[in-house]
This record gives sequence, structure tokens and C-alpha cells, in this order.
Amino acid sequence: MNAKSIPLAGVIGAPIVHSKSPALHRHWLQRYGINGHYVPIELTQDNFADGLKSLPRLGFRGVNITMPFKKAALDLADTVTDRAALIGAANTLTFRKDGRIHADNTDGFGFIANLHQYAPDWRANSGPVLVLGAGGAAGAVLSALLNEGAPQIYLANRTKTSAEMMREKFGARIKVIDLTKVPAMIGDVSLLVNATSLGMAGKSELQLDLKALNKNTLVTDLVYNPLRTSLLDRAAALGCHTVDGLGMLLHQAAPGFENWFRKKPTVDEELRQVVLNA
Ligand code: NDP
Repeated sequence: MNAKSIPLAGVIGAPIVHSKSPALHRHWLQRYGINGHYVPIELTQDNFADGLKSLPRLGFRGVNITMPFKKAALDLADTVTDRAALIGAANTLTFRKDGRIHADNTDGFGFIANLHQYAPDWRANSGPVLVLGAGGAAGAVLSALLNEGAPQIYLANRTKTSAEMMREKFGARIKVIDLTKVPAMIGDVSLLVNATSLGMAGKSELQLDLKALNKNTLVTDLVYNPLRTSLLDRAAALGCHTVDGLGMLLHQAAPGFENWFRKKPTVDEELRQVVLNA
């Protein structure tokens, strides 16, 4: 790779047309006056491996990976961060000068950075956490919360066996609870996280009795479309501080941008507006 060449990066997924990542990275490129490009790339299951491996030779410094290739990307990488290996999925690949592929998962980083930005007084070790959901995003959230020092994480999911598998993977600080038990213990947690896809545009609402919710509990939703989910609105009406999921999306993008374009980007209100309008 020629160090003086125009730096290229992109996002691979299928479909990719709705991805917000191009608007986000292009805004940063423009803001920092970097003569680089960030492109959406749609591949198929059949050509993912060949397509990905050809990118370093074309001048790409790395790519984001989105659905449905996060696991395949991890499997193809030559080196992998501990957090990506633990989560079992990669969302950020960096191509080394010798063409080797380095894989990371920055979703958990984005989740924590979003809370630090919009709830600066929150500390992971201030009490038990309740996480709803046990899909891919929940894995990243659990890994990050444990790393930040959360003392205990209650985990509830529609399919209980998936939550139990998370407990196997992440260890004894995870306690799997039945969804029906959530309303009775919701008053005891310092952070409530919706990591299910319920509440997303086109999906059903998250039906959860919040009567016992303590107003000191921080409530956050991974869903960012809509930005204000009914969970956030109902929690805010009870006096809770709430943080929407958009900041997680913005912050997870920062490590890749810094790797590829050699500039640490800032997540701010201007960026939020660009992505919301994209
Ligand atoms: P997955 O498909 O891997 O997991 C979906 C989760 O939602 C599972 O726990 C699933 O439960 C649960 N779920 C889905 N439908 C229902 C239902 N009808 N009733 C009860 N539970 C249900 O998705 P991800 O983990 O990748 O994503 C989850 C959410 O997080 C999505 O809305 C996604 O957009 C958002 N997200 C946001 C990010 C951000 O940057 N803000 C980053 C990544 C994701 P079960 O196991 O029983 O199927």
C-alpha cells in the first residue's frame, strides 16, 4: 500500500443501501479536510470472502462490517482483538500494510462512550444492571459492561436458552432471569438497557411494566429508529434520565475512522444531525 495514496474505507453489508455509515464518515472526512473516501459495498454470501480480500490491493485501509457478515468477517481475520473474539463478531476491520486483516468489535465501546457522553455521572460499578435481549448487540453490551466493572448483570430474554448461553460465555456476574420476573426487580437496578429489537420502527413495542422503576435508574435503548422509543418516553415521564441509541452508532464508528484516516474524530450534535438527516 502506498502511504501517499488517497485513503479508502467503506462498509460491507447486504443490503447496504440504508446504512448511515457513509454519511457519518463522509462528514468527518469533510470536517477534517481529509482527501479520502468511504464507500458502501454490497456483497453476497458467495463473494464476501473474495471481495473482502481484494480490498487491501485496491487501496482500502479497512472497512466496517454490518449484517449479515459480522461473524464471517471474524472468521476471515488474521488477528482478532479479545473483545471481538469474546463477542464472536467483528464490525471493524483494519488492513495491515502486509495485507493481513485485523478484526475488532467496537459496539461495546460505542455503548459505553454514549453513556459517558450523555449521562456523565453514571458509573458501571454503581449497582446492578438489567439487560433485556441476548442477540448480537446484547453480547457487545454485556462484554463492555463487565469490562467497565458492573458488579452484577441481570439478563432477560424471550428465548431463555440464548441468555443462558451468554451466561456460559461471560461468567458468574451474569444472572439469567425470567422475563416475567423483570417488573418485580426493576426498582433495584442502576441501569436498564433495552438490547432487543422491540421498539424499532416496524417492530412491536417493548411491553414492560415500569411502575416499580426508580427515578435514579438510568434507562437506555439500543434502538435509534425511532430516536425516542416508548421505553425512553415512559421512563423519562417517571423522572429517569434516558439516553437514546444514536450515540452508540456514532461512537462505534470512531475507532475505525481513527485507524484508517489517522485522525481521532469527535462525536457531537452536528454529527447527530447529519446522521439523523441521512
Ligand atoms: P438480534 O437479531 O441479534 O437480537 C434481537 C433480540 O431481540 C433478541 O434478544 C430477540 O430475542 C429479541 N426480540 C426480537 N423480537 C422479539 C419479540 N417479538 N419479543 C421479544 N424479544 C424479541 O439483533 P441485534 O442484537 O443485532 O440488535 C438488537 C437491537 O439493537 C436492534 O434494534 C438493533 O437495531 C439495535 N442495535 C443498535 C446499535 C447501535 O449502535 N445503537 C448497534 C447494534 C444493534 P430472541 O433471542 O428470543 O429472538
